[in-house]
Amino acid sequence: MSTHAASSESRIPVKGLLPAELENLLAAEGAPRYAAGQVFSWLYAKKAESFEKMTDLNRALRARLTAGYTMKEAALVGEQAGTDGTRKLLIRLNDGERVESVIIPDEKRSTLCLSSQCGCVRGCAFCATATMGLHRNLTAGEIVEQALIAARIMPVTNAVFMGMGEPMDNFDAVMRAVQILTSQKGFGLGARHVTVSTVGVVPGILRMARERIPAGLTVSLTAPDDELRSTLIPANRTWPIAQVMEACRKWSDTMERDVTLAYVLMAGVNDSPRHSMALAKLARKARAKVNLIPCNPARGFLPPPDTRVYEFQTELKASGVLALYRRARGGDIAAACGQLVVSGGHRTGLKAEISAAGGKTPVAANGKSRTAGSGKKVKARA
Ligand code: SF4
Repeated sequence: MSTHAASSESRIPVKGLLPAELENLLAAEGAPRYAAGQVFSWLYAKKAESFEKMTDLNRALRARLTAGYTMKEAALVGEQAGTDGTRKLLIRLNDGERVESVIIPDEKRSTLCLSSQCGCVRGCAFCATATMGLHRNLTAGEIVEQALIAARIMPVTNAVFMGMGEPMDNFDAVMRAVQILTSQKGFGLGARHVTVSTVGVVPGILRMARERIPAGLTVSLTAPDDELRSTLIPANRTWPIAQVMEACRKWSDTMERDVTLAYVLMAGVNDSPRHSMALAKLARKARAKVNLIPCNPARGFLPPPDTRVYEFQTELKASGVLALYRRARGGDIAAACGQLVVSGGHRTGLKAEISAAGGKTPVAANGKSRTAGSGKKVKARA
């Protein structure tokens, strides 16, 4: 490897490599085997921002790594803070694509909502990301970089793959990222603190079980019968509810963990007592708990009133199902479930919207301020 500086485009990315792969890469640079563990720890545990900071590597190796490799997969280019402490991050990837990640702090933890794809092809009726179509999959390095960027803003204790994209459609990169995030020598979250969420891509659920991927599983059910579910989540036409539930049971039996069913409540669509009864039956059979999430008005659906959400929860509990009411977070900055979207891909997104608005708060298509009356601040970064 030449020691003269290569252009950043020709440098080989190291983020997203697993320890054994790093070992091979470093061996080619003449480094001892133990150097792989040191680099892995510098990248994810110590969160070093350059090879030069890896001070227990010898100087010549650091110089060779700097010349031939890159550890920067993405940059923070915009940030919004909601009144409830939620932070939405706009992250630019090296090819100019943009994704959003959201940090949701509460008293005891702060959960990072990660994107796995730029856009999504699944077309769910209630989801803003669906309007983008799929631009491309993220690499494992780009996924982990979201966590590293977030950790510079506040400590991250949990991660959920509930941002932009269907994680099972980018299985290899997502599961590689899961291994780095959960590794105690890496990002250090542990398997109980990382969750993969899917709309019910059955082959992915079964593969997670087969490969014993160290993460929890949430399935976005959102409707308890196939007819309604297929109108809201088109993937249901490929994998109907019975198949999804069977896959959940297999995952649960193999991993000895309970699956979570996410149920996005939409007024007048899926919130009647008939729906809660049917949902309870499915949850009992799958030994699943239920997270109730009132929808965010991203695509014209409206959430039921609070009283109806509590009634729905009570109906589930009365049927013997553990049901939690997950209040929407970050709604004032369009950071809540189903609201993430980077309009126009490369050229727009938060920073461009801010710029187009002359530094003022971006305005949504419905004419309302994206942070109107409640979002604390909008920052753009170079
Ligand atoms: S809900 Fe998930 S799978 Fe469905 S369109 Fe949105 S990002 Fe894709």
